[in-house]
Amino acid sequence: MKEGLKIVISGPSGSGKGTIVKELIKNEQFMLSISATTRMPRQGEEEGVHYYFKSTSEFEDMIAEEALLEYANFCGNYYGTPKAPIEEGVKNGKDVILEIEVQGAQQIKQIYDDAVFIFVIPPSLTELEKRLVGRGTETEEVIAKRIGRAKEELAMYKEYDYIIINDTLADAIDQINHIVYTEKLRSSRFEVDIERVINN
Ligand code: 5GP
Repeated sequence: MKEGLKIVISGPSGSGKGTIVKELIKNEQFMLSISATTRMPRQGEEEGVHYYFKSTSEFEDMIAEEALLEYANFCGNYYGTPKAPIEEGVKNGKDVILEIEVQGAQQIKQIYDDAVFIFVIPPSLTELEKRLVGRGTETEEVIAKRIGRAKEELAMYKEYDYIIINDTLADAIDQINHIVYTEKLRSSRFEVDIERVINN
């Protein structure tokens, strides 16, 4: 079995990347990496499904034990990717999705040179603000912080291989499926197949 892809999906808060990821993982080909965070659970979020919710000291223990592949501080909270499930997932042929912010994505780039980097952007900042306010999960203060951070993150778009302008969900999903399809045709993934062709 061929290894799955490691797919990093970033995008400002309110870009709709969470909805995209939720839709993608309905397909069993994909596996979502579940992050650890020190932020408080939002209503409806479950331990081990959306995040592993940790205290700051528990999170710092994970850092010390080198249990995290990468971690970053985002708007005052820690977020990090547990190492073990990623390697296991790709080995089992799953395309593993890491939904992480830009600093973490930079760290992943140093670790995996074959990961695929996708940046999801909103059609406009006005739309982004509308989505953040509309979902009603954050206080005004947090929303303001996230919009400020969104502007900084948008400036980093060139660090990514692909950009998805998230206007309609169906188009975004379609575009990501196309990216995944094409990435799997890379020559670097064909060593074994070529040998088989040569020896038959
Ligand atoms: P939220 O609080 O909205 O769930 O997430 C805030 C930001 O943290 C989002 O951009 C999300 O992609 C990012 N994030 C979630 N998990 C991780 C992680 O494991 N590592 C990093 N670096 N960022 C993460």
